Amino acid sequence: MVTRVESAGELVARAVSTFTDRFGEKPTTAVCGPGRVNLIGEHTDYNEGFVFPMALPMVTVVVGRKTDTGVCRVVTTAESADDPKQVEFPVPSTANPLQPGKPAWANYVKGVVANFKGEVCSFDAVLASSVPLGGGLSSSASLEVATYTFLEQLNPQDPPVSLKEKALACQKAEHEFPGMPCGIMDQFISVMGKEGHALLLDCRSMDAQLVPLDNPDVVVMVTNSNVRHELTGSEYPTRRRQCEEAAKILGKNSLREATMDDLEAHKDKFEPEVLCRARHVIGEIRRTTEAADALRARDYAKFGKLMVESHNSLRDDYEVSCAELDTLVSAAMECTGVYGSRMTGGGFGGCTVTLLSATAVQDTISHIKKKYTGEPTFYITTPAAGASVLQIP
Ligand code: ADP
Ligand code: MG
Repeated sequence: MVTRVESAGELVARAVSTFTDRFGEKPTTAVCGPGRVNLIGEHTDYNEGFVFPMALPMVTVVVGRKTDTGVCRVVTTAESADDPKQVEFPVPSTANPLQPGKPAWANYVKGVVANFKGEVCSFDAVLASSVPLGGGLSSSASLEVATYTFLEQLNPQDPPVSLKEKALACQKAEHEFPGMPCGIMDQFISVMGKEGHALLLDCRSMDAQLVPLDNPDVVVMVTNSNVRHELTGSEYPTRRRQCEEAAKILGKNSLREATMDDLEAHKDKFEPEVLCRARHVIGEIRRTTEAADALRARDYAKFGKLMVESHNSLRDDYEVSCAELDTLVSAAMECTGVYGSRMTGGGFGGCTVTLLSATAVQDTISHIKKKYTGEPTFYITTPAAGASVLQIP
């Protein structure tokens, strides 16, 4: 019932075997970067608020070795990546910078090569991932951060770049090459994640604080609804614009600086929809810091209550949920041993995240399957480590 996640060791073995077949020798280096799930703090990043993700045991592995050919060759083993699965590109120089192009998947790698802080040598590499591609668990950041970590191994820098610089270089790679204007969350958690901890990230100051989530009786279930509603495509930019408008009405640089009292005092100046959007963001930023306090106090009931409030606010005020996510959350909340549940990610499909007692997992999954007409995928996880170097068997 629970989807088995390929371990990092299994991914390395698979990638090494592909590498040896393709390039005729063994790789020298193996690294990984994890995917992530956001526990609370949704649509707060572009309002300079807080997010609270944890790294997942699902990772992207890169294995490879230095070459002296001046050409980088990269193979992905991900079946759902677009064709061709092998690319070649020259080591970039000032005269010959890298350009994004096709296949789309290679842009994540090229973007990191182009943004690496230091000289890069040419290399051969193979990618293998247990993060579902496009499933809302940030396979993209896990690939970028794994690629950066791989380049660090091949081209050691003295002194090495800070974790923050590394995450920002990976974010810039995603902005420039695939052209996704993502926030800082995915790359920060993939770089800075720590086993048994979630990461409270201040998207204004970029300050990051680890908070323990290490009770063996408590697990995090990620449920993929396996639906994605293609709407008009303007939902995200519209909400961003509404948030900017709300901040302007309140005379603030961002909604981070606004309080519910400010909103109440100026509510007559708002269109109803914009008022609702602002209410979500201001409430969600507060809930996120409260959730971090609750976790520090190991108050899982309080944490869970805040998750449900977050979901309801995303559903009613921010209007980014959908029937499938609402069903997954309400079904989970009907079960004994479930602390809280909410949609996670941008919305209109994708995943929910549920905090529950380890002993409640089987009954909760059975109940959700009875209530949900689609085919959900369940992952049982605990917070994992950020990017690291692995052994080659
Ligand atoms: P998410 O980050 O939520 O998984 P994105 O759309 O941001 O979804 O990123 C998914 C894209 O990242 C894929 O379509 C593919 O282009 C690229 N990608 C991620 N992992 C891999 C991989 N192991 N091999 C090749 N491409 C990958
Ligand atoms: Mg992504």
